[in-house]
Amino acid sequence: MHIQLAGILLAATALSATPVSAKSAKPGNVVDFMGPLLATAPDAATIDGKCDLYVKEIERRIAELENETGPATANTSLARYDELIALIGGGSGEFTLYQEVMADQPRRDAGGNCQVRLSTLSSRISLSRPIYDRLKAIDPSKEDEATRFYLKQTLASFERSGVALDDAERAEIQALQEKIAEVGNEFDSNIAAGQKSLKVAPSELEGLPEDYIAAHRPGPDGLVEITTATPDYVPVMSYAKSDKLRHDLSIIYNQRAFPENDAKLRELLHLRQQLANKLGRRNYAELVLEDKMVNTPKKVEKLLEDMAEAALPAAKGDYAKNLAVLQELRPGATDIKFWETAWLSPIVQQRYYDYNPQEARKYFAYNDVRDGILKLTQDLFGVEIRRWKTAVWDKDVEPYEVYDQGKLIGRFYLDSHPRPGKYSHANMVPLRPGIPGKAVPLGALVMNMAKGDHTTGLMEHGDVETFLHEFGHLIHGIFGGTQRWFGQSGVATEWDFVEAPSQMLENWVYDYDTLKTFAKDKDGNPIPRELVEKMNRARLFNAGFGDMRQLGYSNISLEFHQQPVPENMGDAARYYRGAFDLIPTPDFVEMQAAFGHLNGYSAIYYTYRWSKVIADDLFTRFSGEGLRNKATAKDYREKVLAMGGTKPAAELVRDFLGRDITLDAYRAEMAKAAQ
Ligand SMILES: [Zn+2]
Repeated sequence: MHIQLAGILLAATALSATPVSAKSAKPGNVVDFMGPLLATAPDAATIDGKCDLYVKEIERRIAELENETGPATANTSLARYDELIALIGGGSGEFTLYQEVMADQPRRDAGGNCQVRLSTLSSRISLSRPIYDRLKAIDPSKEDEATRFYLKQTLASFERSGVALDDAERAEIQALQEKIAEVGNEFDSNIAAGQKSLKVAPSELEGLPEDYIAAHRPGPDGLVEITTATPDYVPVMSYAKSDKLRHDLSIIYNQRAFPENDAKLRELLHLRQQLANKLGRRNYAELVLEDKMVNTPKKVEKLLEDMAEAALPAAKGDYAKNLAVLQELRPGATDIKFWETAWLSPIVQQRYYDYNPQEARKYFAYNDVRDGILKLTQDLFGVEIRRWKTAVWDKDVEPYEVYDQGKLIGRFYLDSHPRPGKYSHANMVPLRPGIPGKAVPLGALVMNMAKGDHTTGLMEHGDVETFLHEFGHLIHGIFGGTQRWFGQSGVATEWDFVEAPSQMLENWVYDYDTLKTFAKDKDGNPIPRELVEKMNRARLFNAGFGDMRQLGYSNISLEFHQQPVPENMGDAARYYRGAFDLIPTPDFVEMQAAFGHLNGYSAIYYTYRWSKVIADDLFTRFSGEGLRNKATAKDYREKVLAMGGTKPAAELVRDFLGRDITLDAYRAEMAKAAQ
């Protein structure tokens, strides 16, 4: 449930080049250079070849900027720098996409390899003293507010990456950055390749939905294969009556990429610690937090504590309800086991809230859900979404165009269904930035949803929520994707703000007026209002419980990057998680090995919780003025989404709410959940 962001810009070997006049920057050529995606790339060599072109072009432009002469201005030096950002950002997205979606390992690997090469160039730019000096020489006083903000952030990021150090030290930092990218990439690849499976007797599937059982027929050996892929794993953990099946699947699920990633993760953490120390910081958490809204480890700790204080009463109430139901089912049970939580949840929802997720499931067929989400976007924001005729990398990929008042403003791909070897979670990949008057932003949603109509494509309500969440990133990327500066386009806001718009949007899949437009059963009957009301009552159940678990994950992410690298990764992860999670983590759980965010997000997994605080706060205007209030939606689009990263996120929220962010809305929700 996240966005693939280009690596943070962090040695410079001056390339020999002809000095160029500062006047010759030509904005806009960069998207022409990137060209169309290799949707139908026949082989890995083609992908490697395109990567070579990117690398050559970026190296040429680095040299050009380093050798620039004449007065440094925003229109020249910053424009050249910004185009480098666009090339690296767009390229990272493009090759991330190949790594996630291509049909075979060589092409996926080619995508991954190119990301490492681009990340190396990115870190080289961030350590280029000549580039820093050119940007530093720009007089910001004559520039607009967004440009001043961009310059300030950019210079700070150079300073944070060690641009002021001497040549030998910068070379060491460059080498460390490259090694970090390489190890991180191996960590991710191990997770992608880390799927496990088990075989069970068909009778073990009792309790699972009929369509799941139909899709899991026994093989010639009479056994059914269940994998750790999300569409296999989640229904088993939620519905299987067999405690043994859930227990056994939980073991292999929580040992994905283990032990392969044990040493990899340890190496990654050591390298990051070394890097932070070389840059004069005590630890990597300190370094990575400096440009966030919550900008110190202490502030993150305080946030986790404050949120836990708000969530704990609700979490204890959730625990009590779960345990009471477990004791009815199994007299004498004294506690809830790790592999029982997901299974108890729908039973408790049925018991206390009369809500049956399987009942709701009948109303969510993929095709209807997709059309419903597109229609919601059209209704709320007054845009039009049409199919786009273009080449795709798989027959299941659905390309679309977005029009506003008849004008094309963005394009996107939905790659919604699982395939062997494909990225196994859900994320949005930004592929191209927009250029005013010249190019529109392009992005892709890579997901793993059921496919088709009511026969094959029924989805959990939680999947519908995930779909809309990821779609939220996509529209943020489109509505805010055409700025003067690429580095401020779309989702290029402070990283710990970026989840907020998507988390806020999740509220719409609990809105009857929205759901009734697309949630229909196989006979075309819309979802009953009563069922949606029950769903809403049940929604707050396990909210406290779930947040405490998420705070536990945030704690692992923070402490792994703040404390000395642990001797035993599993022990440490279970301990940090246990500081918040109400359910004890069994010794078999090695989830850190498949905790992909530890590469991509490092210390800042708290981002999801902090974004929830902001999302709850943003939503107060919609809950007061109406979820389908077009004036509120317009205000939100203009003041928050369309602004991209042109202002600090705290200001965007203030512009929309008319006041600063507080935890009040989050506290109020948790208080309601505790009732
Ligand atoms: Zn997200």
